[in-house]
Amino acid sequence: MVCLISLIKRLNVFYMLYFLFTTGKCNLNCVYCGGSFKENVVPWKVKYDLEKLKSFLDEDDEAAIAFYGGEPLLNTDFIRKVIDEGIGGRYIIQTNGLLVNKLEPRYWMKMDTVLLSIDGRRKVTNLYRGNGVYERVITSARYLRKLGFKGDLIARMTVSERTNIFKDVTHLISTKLFDHVHWQLDLVWSDRWRNLEKWAEENYKPGLRRLLRFWINEIEKGRLHGIVPFTGILKNALFNEKSPAPPCEAGTNAFAILPNGKIIACPIAIDVEWGFLGTIESCSPRKLKGKVEIGRPCVSCEIFRFCGGRCLYSYMEREWSLEAFEKACDLTKFLVEILLNAEPEIWGLLGKGKVKLNELRYPKTNNSTEIVP
Ligand code: SF4
Ligand code: SF4
Repeated sequence: MVCLISLIKRLNVFYMLYFLFTTGKCNLNCVYCGGSFKENVVPWKVKYDLEKLKSFLDEDDEAAIAFYGGEPLLNTDFIRKVIDEGIGGRYIIQTNGLLVNKLEPRYWMKMDTVLLSIDGRRKVTNLYRGNGVYERVITSARYLRKLGFKGDLIARMTVSERTNIFKDVTHLISTKLFDHVHWQLDLVWSDRWRNLEKWAEENYKPGLRRLLRFWINEIEKGRLHGIVPFTGILKNALFNEKSPAPPCEAGTNAFAILPNGKIIACPIAIDVEWGFLGTIESCSPRKLKGKVEIGRPCVSCEIFRFCGGRCLYSYMEREWSLEAFEKACDLTKFLVEILLNAEPEIWGLLGKGKVKLNELRYPKTNNSTEIVP
């Protein structure tokens, strides 16, 4: 009987992803986001009782929990409690990597995925994140490897005007510390671009072509490097699938829980009306599923199957930032185009046994990488 109940429960689980804010406070003040959230918007301490979170997630007890902030490691007590209580079924953390020593090794071993924020080469990372940050993140990555961390260690880059996508991604690969590299364009938050078009045409697009060529040449030599936007987009073509919309699944299968128990559709939609979906007391995972959706113009876009509308936040806020939205579309279309052009060559490599099809199915489940930069 117990087995039957657990089977029924298992058939009904959603495997959703929850960004669990441990605090709104941050110990850095990166150029992109300006550090801590205002305490009245994203409290710096968790205000709800853990039992409330437990009963909220009871319906979805295999859920993935992504510890998030601010800097999540500023509240390690909360992380310990969530893991010790066995809340959720899979753990992910997105951290700036400065405080990894604050959490004991046994908790790191329970993490399925660790995303360390690093923008590539030393000079780029330190310019945007602060002096010495690069060195500390690399030290943390080495520390996690030394501990024997066997999960997925992802370098999470923010890409801005000083980024050279080829040099920065290949630099991170050359450290041999990370299983995967992912990047996100600094377009949502930023009006810092001096000349985005020039950078896109003269730097980013040629850099993407070069990076893709490098990636394919390396596969030919039997080395598959984990470049999330490449595999994440390509898998829709290789497996004849359709990207979730949006690919990060914000508002459909991924939600964020603020330290005051409010549930929002995407972790940066902290103060917008459309983002607020309820609270852990008033809501249930079942009611949340598919709550916010991507519509026009994306659903009629020629690359919707691969792009999925890219980012729910940009999509919802595109009225005030139409220019940024359209620029992002141009970059996404370029990336999708070069990947699709490379598809026959990838099939050729698959045919020659240089790589296995299953190895190109990444990510297998939502690990909080947004796929489309
Ligand atoms: S490229 Fe732009 S319009 Fe097309 S699906 Fe992506 S976000 Fe939407
Ligand atoms: S990609 Fe956009 S919608 Fe998705 S989590 Fe990031 S900011 Fe939110």
